Amino acid sequence: MSSAELPALIPLAEAQARVLEVAHPLPTVTVDLADAAGLVLAKPVRSALTVPSWDNSAMDGFAVRSVDVASAGTETPVVLRVLGEVPAGRPPERGVEAGTALRIMTGAMLPPGADSVVPVEDTDAEPGEAALPGSVAIRLAARPGDNVRPAGSDVTEGTPLLPAGRVCDAAAIALLAATGCAAGAAHRRARLAVISTGDELVPPGRALGPAQIHDSNSLMLEAQAAEAGAEVRRLGIARDTLPDLLALVREAIDWADVVVLSGGVSVGAHDHVKAAFSTVGALSVWRVAIKPGRPFAFARARSGDREVALFGLPGNPVSVFVTFELFVRPFVRLLAGHVLAFDRPRRRARLVGPVRGTSGRLSINRVALEPDPELPGQLLARSSGGQDSYMLASLAAADGLAFVPPDTSLEAGADVEVWQIRPLAG
Ligand code: AMP
Ligand code: MG
Repeated sequence: MSSAELPALIPLAEAQARVLEVAHPLPTVTVDLADAAGLVLAKPVRSALTVPSWDNSAMDGFAVRSVDVASAGTETPVVLRVLGEVPAGRPPERGVEAGTALRIMTGAMLPPGADSVVPVEDTDAEPGEAALPGSVAIRLAARPGDNVRPAGSDVTEGTPLLPAGRVCDAAAIALLAATGCAAGAAHRRARLAVISTGDELVPPGRALGPAQIHDSNSLMLEAQAAEAGAEVRRLGIARDTLPDLLALVREAIDWADVVVLSGGVSVGAHDHVKAAFSTVGALSVWRVAIKPGRPFAFARARSGDREVALFGLPGNPVSVFVTFELFVRPFVRLLAGHVLAFDRPRRRARLVGPVRGTSGRLSINRVALEPDPELPGQLLARSSGGQDSYMLASLAAADGLAFVPPDTSLEAGADVEVWQIRPLAG
């Protein structure tokens, strides 16, 4: 194919729109809370319980009637007879009567008759594992409700807890567990298959022969896909022949919702990915106006009643990383039911050095981010190293991807938009 026959480069936003318009949330499954981390709720959840279910103590101390200790103070202690104890997890065996108290532990049920708790620190009783005293001197006045956690003060039965679209993060899972929701309706995880292509590739850990390199894309993609919330299978390396590639693509389609290939999608003599896509499905995007990542391809296929998305990422590892961020991560998020496709924090940062843009293409540059000493609270973006798309050292050193518009060169001090790709240290 001569360059005159190549299709026009598609602007990034248009290519993303074409890819994401076919990303629909996956079917709903019922999941145990233990397996729910990271999943997105498909239905709103209401509380199955009132929590706390009963009045209980917020402190280790003594359950009292506030009227008995209204005059208590350091100089005017009130002595109460201690009738017994209420540990956590056991209902009180008796109530509190005038002139008496029960020793009580944090989280234990408030006994009948008591309306407040005096912390052990405000009495003459020994804290810790001391034997139950016969009486206690109260050194602090209590008002009704002091150090009591009333029934229903957190959540009441039947109230809405979490909306559909909420991620089951640690806080959501704790809330569901505490309120009696042992299982929930969530979108299932996207199944994502990873295939590398190339006769030169050898799995990491295996000795390299002449002209061979390690397959770094498979493991990188597995890590990126897992971080995006997908269930991942690595299917290995396809040789640079159409039949070999098709065999792996067909195996992938049988299982996956999303198939991600790297390499073999450009205009080389041994690039068979587009032909494989057209054999099993329909190609809808090829060649995007970005650097790195220009040869990106996207296609769709069917397997029974399932839609399968096929991503043909370029071969160079940084192109793979960047196109995964731009296309695959948001796609996987929409499949999982997330409300927002694009979730990387977007930052404005000031360039430390000049950046040369690319003719006709949006440049996506690896940058390290650091606090701006002149403008507190602002960020500086510094090139994290060589920007060629085979250079992984500068990718590992990058905190973000800076977007430089086509045909634009930026001077030091200019503002750039940066997608933060990992948490900033310090
Ligand atoms: P291709 O588009 O297949 O010609 O690949 C472009 C460049 O990426 C070549 O230098 C390949 O050797 C390299 N490459 C392709 N696949 C991988 C991979 N899985 N891991 C590391 N480098 C790769
Ligand atoms: Mg190749």
